[in-house]
Amino acid sequence: MAKRDYYEILGVSRDASKEEIKKAYRKLALKYHPDKNPSKDAEERFKEISEAYAILYDDEKRRLYDMYGHAGIDQRYSYEDIFREADFGDIFRSMGFDFGFDDIFERFFGHRMGFDHRSSRRRRGADLRYDIEISLEDAYNGVETTIHVPRSETCEHCNGTGARPGTTPKTCPQCGGTGQIRTSRRTAFGIFTQITTCNRCHGEGRVITEPCPVCKGTGIVQKTRDIELKIPGGVEDGSQLRLPGEGEAGSGGPGDLYVIVHIKKHPKFKRRGLDLYTVKEITFPEAALGAKIDVETIDGKVEKLKIPEGTQTGEIFKIRGQGMPGLHGRGHGDLYVEIQVKTPKKLSRKAKKLLEELKNELNE
Ligand SMILES: [Zn+2]
Ligand SMILES: [Zn+2]
Repeated sequence: MAKRDYYEILGVSRDASKEEIKKAYRKLALKYHPDKNPSKDAEERFKEISEAYAILYDDEKRRLYDMYGHAGIDQRYSYEDIFREADFGDIFRSMGFDFGFDDIFERFFGHRMGFDHRSSRRRRGADLRYDIEISLEDAYNGVETTIHVPRSETCEHCNGTGARPGTTPKTCPQCGGTGQIRTSRRTAFGIFTQITTCNRCHGEGRVITEPCPVCKGTGIVQKTRDIELKIPGGVEDGSQLRLPGEGEAGSGGPGDLYVIVHIKKHPKFKRRGLDLYTVKEITFPEAALGAKIDVETIDGKVEKLKIPEGTQTGEIFKIRGQGMPGLHGRGHGDLYVEIQVKTPKKLSRKAKKLLEELKNELNE
């Protein structure tokens, strides 16, 4: 039977906000919660809406579902993962149910699950961070580069099982594969049940009898991976690029890689938002008489800038459209040119004479 669309199940639109999704789920959960509605149908419906909520309320899972549909979720998460990683505690407490999702989970799956992420059997790999420094020119044009990221990967020799190829991990004899040990005691207040992580398999549910010689039974090896990185034009200093699935390996799928982009100081240009600032020196006669001067732009071209007569030092002129590009092709900033009138330090005899004449003229 084909799985129904998660949005349809909750009766929300595809662009519904998280609040709307929560509200829709709350409403349906009140109707189908096994506490309220003990029929078998209601339990099936409750499973269905809870699964839809667990996917759509989680940004990453929702993104995968939007992109790839059910296949995107099924390839990456087990049915149990979906429930284990969702937080139902809050929503149930707010509805006044006195038992949480782990109790319901037990009905669904026939055993309890650890809601503690640290003891969950399938764990997602850690996220990684990589810092890269680029020039302002690269930030302007965008740049493609290869980065070398050391990280842990699933051992190919044993496919991450940790067991020597040809052998298979055995179901843990102590906990029967659940990874947990339950002990129940009858007390005056009722049955008291304690759940602990199995000490034989450390919660994995399986034990390796012959470890893989490459990874020594961990299922994970250290590797440096070359990753093609595309930094878009217009990127800002401190921007974060997320590369899904390029983080550390984990039994529940890899984590993500976050690349932080730093932009080097430029000797000529300062950046403020989309605009660039530069300083241009001109001579006193150019300032006094007005001039057409050459201004280098960040893309290596030369623009003509007209300076009116009587320009003062510190005056700023704008060259439209010669700033940084906006991300995703959204317009351009401007280039601001601050004028500095240069006072000559060495003068030829002729220049000195001309300036003397000018001085006398100005003093009259
Ligand atoms: Zn065990
Ligand atoms: Zn191995």
